[in-house]
Amino acid sequence: MKKVALITGGSRGIGYGVCQSLAKEGYNIVIGDIRDEKETELAVQELSKMDCEVLYIQTDVSNLKARKKLLREIDEHFGCLHVLVNNAGVAPKERKDILDASEESFDWVISVNLKGPYFLTQLTANWMIKQKKSKPDFSGYIVNISSVSSTVASPNRGEYCISKAGISMATKLWAVRLAEFNILVYEVRPGIIRTDMTAAVKTKYDKMIAEGLLLQSRWGIPEDVGKTVASLVRGDLPYSTGQVIMVDGGLTINRL
Ligand code: NAP
Repeated sequence: MKKVALITGGSRGIGYGVCQSLAKEGYNIVIGDIRDEKETELAVQELSKMDCEVLYIQTDVSNLKARKKLLREIDEHFGCLHVLVNNAGVAPKERKDILDASEESFDWVISVNLKGPYFLTQLTANWMIKQKKSKPDFSGYIVNISSVSSTVASPNRGEYCISKAGISMATKLWAVRLAEFNILVYEVRPGIIRTDMTAAVKTKYDKMIAEGLLLQSRWGIPEDVGKTVASLVRGDLPYSTGQVIMVDGGLTINRL
């Protein structure tokens, strides 16, 4: 039987790119996304053409009951889970200077981008440990999609930067805790990727890219991230748990 990968926020954008790459890699795919199932039918149909089984489960990663239901339904359907990709994330609804930004926006962004994936990892890790105990050759992977905002300060979206910096530490914590169970944990840190999330700042980033912001002078695409995640869960970086893999076209290379 094929291995199973859960990709949160996998119905579009980077998450969908990851789904495509993991389907090509031979995984059955579970998409856990907040969007209404009807809106995602096309994406699910397209993926299903890739010789894999696709299960769509509407969920909200920031909600404890929804996280439990998500894993219960995967267990009922497939009976196993080998890969969790914590990809679902939100940007602040409005970019606001940290002198003015609201606590409400802070709470929302942190609960989706940090608290949700942290505790979804906890639930998944406990299930993976059980699988490892019953099948000694079991290997699990947890991949967190962070952002260059983990280390690059943007004071007009502080809550987003803090959520991503938190995910960077969560990656290290889970890597430390889960290594003994052969569950490897990685952080994939994208730069500027063309998706709905960046549509609102397209003109700004087009200009910055044209002016030399990146070493590789183009927008990143979801496939760039998907291929990276596929290489991790294929086992191509077998001795690197806890590490950060940059997918940023050289954005964060300091230059003089
Ligand atoms: P996107 O196009 O907005 O897609 C994100 C998906 O996650 C959407 O389908 C979204 O649904 C879903 N989602 C949002 N809140 C959720 C929740 N509470 N529970 C479950 N699903 C939820 O974003 P993207 O650009 O692909 O970004 C994916 C990840 O990469 C995010 O973590 C983001 O921070 C990170 N990232 C993106 C970039 C970039 O340049 N695009 C760069 C670095 C890192 P709705 O749209 O209905 O909310």
